[in-house]
Amino acid sequence: MLDLADVTRFFSGPPAVNALRGVDLVVARGDYLAIIGPSGSGKSTMLNLLGLLDRASTGQFRFEGIDVAELSDEARTALRAHAIGFVFQSFHLLPTRTALENVVLACTYAGVPRGERAAIARAALERVGLAHRLDATPNRLSGGERQRVAIARAVSTSPRLLLADEPTGNLDRENSESVMDLFSQLNSEGLTIVMITHDHAVAAAAARRARILDGALEEVE
Ligand code: ADP
Ligand code: MG
Repeated sequence: MLDLADVTRFFSGPPAVNALRGVDLVVARGDYLAIIGPSGSGKSTMLNLLGLLDRASTGQFRFEGIDVAELSDEARTALRAHAIGFVFQSFHLLPTRTALENVVLACTYAGVPRGERAAIARAALERVGLAHRLDATPNRLSGGERQRVAIARAVSTSPRLLLADEPTGNLDRENSESVMDLFSQLNSEGLTIVMITHDHAVAAAAARRARILDGALEEVE
């Protein structure tokens, strides 16, 4: 599904930074990969690249066989919208909208026909165990519930790849575990997941692990 060969990402700065150096990585459909690394090691740069939000400086990145360097900006945006769901550390929910409205809005942006949005959003929230919280605004939800709304939003558009940047970074242990259980469930249903974390206990939930240090990525056992 994802195939990176000798990928680099250079920021000219100042200061100039080699945020990714010679990254080789293959992610197959159905994989669940955790990428672990300390702050500043290149994790978010890596995720932005995988999520088609950024371009490699050198090297080749194939997404489902397509060399993404050859895609126009419009084609990349369309591929991203259809193929990829994102989950972030700080949830990024709209505070004045209910859980259901937050997910419906994502369906709207993704081009889901108006008449189908509410049913799809409701089903996504049921899938993450929040059928009873549809009408709650984020301030009435726990951190773990907020993240589950964000995950429902990410999967509501039926992505083929889920990318998560520190999805448990703002959660206590219990809520982290419930989010990790949910990721395992989604992965067992066939969703490919790449998750970034600096927490080894969280990374242990994934089927594969890689470490990133100073922009260099290596698979760990
Ligand atoms: P992490 O997510 O692991 O904390 P990042 O991928 O955000 O690390 O950053 C990796 C390195 O690249 C850091 O040294 C950071 O300062 C640098 N960097 C990230 N984004 C930019 C940018 N847009 N411009 C310049 N330097 C950047
Ligand atoms: Mg980061």
